[in-house]
Amino acid sequence: MNVPFVDLKAQYSTIRDEIHDAMENILENTAFIGGKPVADFEKAFAAYCGTSFCVGTSSGTSALHVALSACGVGEGDEVITVPNTFIATAEAIEHSGAAFRFVDVDEATSNIDPALIEEAITPKTKAIMPVHLYGRPAPIDEILGIAEKHGLMVIADSAQAHGAVCNGKKMGEGVRAAGFSFYPGKNLGAYGDAGALVTNDEKVAEKARSLIDHGRKDKFAHSSSGFNYRLDAMQAAILDVKLRHLDEWIENRRRVAARYRELLAPLDIEVARHDADCESVYHIFPVWHDDRDRLRERLGERGIACGIHYPIPLHLQEAYARLGLGEGDFPVAERLARRELSLPVYPEMTDEQIEYVAGALAEELA
Ligand SMILES: *Cc1c(COP(=O)(O)O)cnc(C)c1O
Repeated sequence: MNVPFVDLKAQYSTIRDEIHDAMENILENTAFIGGKPVADFEKAFAAYCGTSFCVGTSSGTSALHVALSACGVGEGDEVITVPNTFIATAEAIEHSGAAFRFVDVDEATSNIDPALIEEAITPKTKAIMPVHLYGRPAPIDEILGIAEKHGLMVIADSAQAHGAVCNGKKMGEGVRAAGFSFYPGKNLGAYGDAGALVTNDEKVAEKARSLIDHGRKDKFAHSSSGFNYRLDAMQAAILDVKLRHLDEWIENRRRVAARYRELLAPLDIEVARHDADCESVYHIFPVWHDDRDRLRERLGERGIACGIHYPIPLHLQEAYARLGLGEGDFPVAERLARRELSLPVYPEMTDEQIEYVAGALAEELA
């Protein structure tokens, strides 16, 4: 049996006709940038996130960059974030002109450890950027409490967490802004690069809308020097179709996760925990084991494709060598990086596939 890490084709086959109709509509109208498809999707996604505004962007990275800039984060500022994330989180902070300051994570959640945030706050700190890693919400109420106490903004990297809810709050609620990625493999994925930011602050939304479109005030007047970070109409139309299925897909990811948990419970391996108040949307289903690399190789030989998110924490990346950080600086993030294994998870996974993966793990761990 073959179990791919994700199966975009299986999903496409379930929405083929809807996608083709949407594409044909764009092609017949030949309006490829902006216009109604983008506005329609933005409206639908804002509602989905529980926010008043959504601005579509060219990628998740550009969404995070513009979210920071539109919130007034820039040169001379510091933003607190984590080292166990995709590099785009740190890049976006740098693109805004600010510097990032890492805080280690909580081993139980893989997310920012709220107990370590206050000691990282300096007079330059302007914002906290939690990452809802794997689709599991970071402890947002604690983070918001610390931010409020110190007069900081919370701007979330929600690139893996479309549709997640934590203590009754949707991903856009409570925070100043949140950035999402619609990279094809994300829970809500376009057929190319795309992203969006959401906010309840009209000024932030207006500023972001201008920044993504060359700082435009109108067709010919530019109030600032901006970027070409627009969401294109084709991707917006695809996302509009897919958004209607997202809750059902999340339900199915949770079905896969619950079955994994049941089957893996007797095994000598740590498994992503269930948290009823802050339930993950399982962009990734992580397990942890000292012999991670061997397990990954053996499962690969059995036709099971696993991933690692992420094997090198950002503070140990060559890209950030100039920061002078090293092994031992963020011990929890480092330990997770050595031990994490991402099992296949996608909504269309069959029970047979889940059982095959769990059975293979049981044999390898025996
Ligand atoms: C995917 C991702 C991004 C970047 O999104 P792109 O659309 O690839 O630019 C940022 N942060 C995290 C945590 C991600 O997983």
